[in-house]
Amino acid sequence: MEYRLTSKTYYEALKQDKLLGLKCRTCGAVTTPPVMVCRECAGQDMAVVELKGIGTIRTFTSVFVAAEGRESECPYIIVLVELDEGPWLMGNLDGIDPKAASMELIGKKVKMGHKVFPGDKYSAGEGVSPLFSLVD
Ligand SMILES: [Zn+2]
Repeated sequence: MEYRLTSKTYYEALKQDKLLGLKCRTCGAVTTPPVMVCRECAGQDMAVVELKGIGTIRTFTSVFVAAEGRESECPYIIVLVELDEGPWLMGNLDGIDPKAASMELIGKKVKMGHKVFPGDKYSAGEGVSPLFSLVD
């Protein structure tokens, strides 16, 4: 079994604000981040697609106690976003004060950019993750 979309390719694209995923040629389901088999039908015939990076906040959490090595990033908000194409993707939320975050965030539309964060003692180097911001 070969990887249609490697993590390396996925994260390189993310650094250009491009969100790549996989679309199953059997059932049409879209997944991201990359996986080996379709999340719906376990099929392996998948094509690489570029997603819009637009979605809806389904839940969130405000983080006030950082993981080791991430103290400088606190406080921050992590959101779980249902993308317009179907998959759910986790990322940071930009532009909202974590102390002022309320349940009103749930259901808001967001668009994706990216955030580069420095490596810590548990990672091989710098990383990149989705960074969402509200759209009006
Ligand atoms: Zn499928």
